Amino acid sequence: MAEFWHPEIETMPLDQMRARQEKMVVEHVTHAYKNSPYYRKKFDEIGLKPEDIKNIGDFFTKVPFISKSEIIDAQRENPPFGDFLASPKDEIVRLWVSPGPIYYPFSGEDLAGFQDMCSEAFFATGIRKHDLLDIAFSYYWVPAGTIMDDACREIGAGVIPGGTGMTDMHIDVMKSAGVSAYIGTPSFLMHIADVAKSKNIDLSLRVGVFTAEPLPTDLKKSLEDAFGLDARQLYGTADVGFIGRECEIGGGMHLYEDMVVEVIDPNTGEHVPPGEPGEVVATLLNRKCMPLLRYRTGDLVQGLDEEPCACGRTSPKLLKLIGRTGDTVKVRGIFLVPKQVGDVVSSHNDLGNFQIILEREDVRDEITIKIEYSGKDPQTIIGQLQKEFKERVKLQVDVELTDKLPKDSKLLDDRRDLFK
Ligand SMILES: [Zn+2]
Repeated sequence: MAEFWHPEIETMPLDQMRARQEKMVVEHVTHAYKNSPYYRKKFDEIGLKPEDIKNIGDFFTKVPFISKSEIIDAQRENPPFGDFLASPKDEIVRLWVSPGPIYYPFSGEDLAGFQDMCSEAFFATGIRKHDLLDIAFSYYWVPAGTIMDDACREIGAGVIPGGTGMTDMHIDVMKSAGVSAYIGTPSFLMHIADVAKSKNIDLSLRVGVFTAEPLPTDLKKSLEDAFGLDARQLYGTADVGFIGRECEIGGGMHLYEDMVVEVIDPNTGEHVPPGEPGEVVATLLNRKCMPLLRYRTGDLVQGLDEEPCACGRTSPKLLKLIGRTGDTVKVRGIFLVPKQVGDVVSSHNDLGNFQIILEREDVRDEITIKIEYSGKDPQTIIGQLQKEFKERVKLQVDVELTDKLPKDSKLLDDRRDLFK
């Protein structure tokens, strides 16, 4: 018998779960309109009143989408919150800064809800009180490390705030402290396995929870073989939280119950027929400080599976991710926004057009930024740019200077084959 974090909600018949969500949606839209100047203006512009949203159908047909670039633009125009703030400022207890940059304020109540969502997700993937786990996500600026740390300690697990990088340290601690679970990107754990193997160090883990990157079948198999672990996936974004979690049965990721998830045709914005591929759109219903309605994730998914799962959870399962829409990509588990690269480049007078090239060597993403340069001191500018990219885009990149980029070169040339 499976165990649940919230037995009643996780096993609620699907029609009851939908009725519960519908009630929450209506309240959430009203809250957004009444308290968020951004939504009041947006609704007023199209003549929409919260009273017009009486059910989930109204929500799907009348409420506009929001995208990452719209949030970035609104916050740039009116920093720091871009009129999104829907609670008094002094209620903020946590402020995360995601790539973009995007400021995400949380009240105490929001944060408790966000943490509980994460605990539910990790519990479903098999994290338990008896685990000692290594969290290999960043603890700075972004939600990842800190919220996962809090959520897993709430389950009762012992947590090591390992963070990113420092491969040898992760290996030493895994071995000597007897770490049983890993939470991080699959590519970093594979790197840990390769380095450990080269030093003849045997590592074993009970469970690996992977997120922020796709988990191709061959990489999953290599990780299972290297550590003897059960591989489980979570899918989420810093913008709305964990959307899906993989239970012990697998075959997809159960949707979070306090979130409305839609799958749309990215070109028309219409819902795709049940089970068909499309873009994931999510509305987190328990976040009041900065409500986001119908957030377009830019992630393409193979579809939704509504068949009952043998684990007992009733929420539909999100099938595997198959790609991205638009020009925002994930590199080494974090978002790379080409516009942010452009901001760095355009702050230098002697630089022209640029191109971002993404490649994958073994399991590591490599980023090269090719830039047109007309000055006389290439070495100095390369060093300076690398430092600026590290600071502002949060990624280590290679910089290549060129006289002229070909006219037809794509702004973003992603040569990785991630969605196998
Ligand atoms: Zn299940």
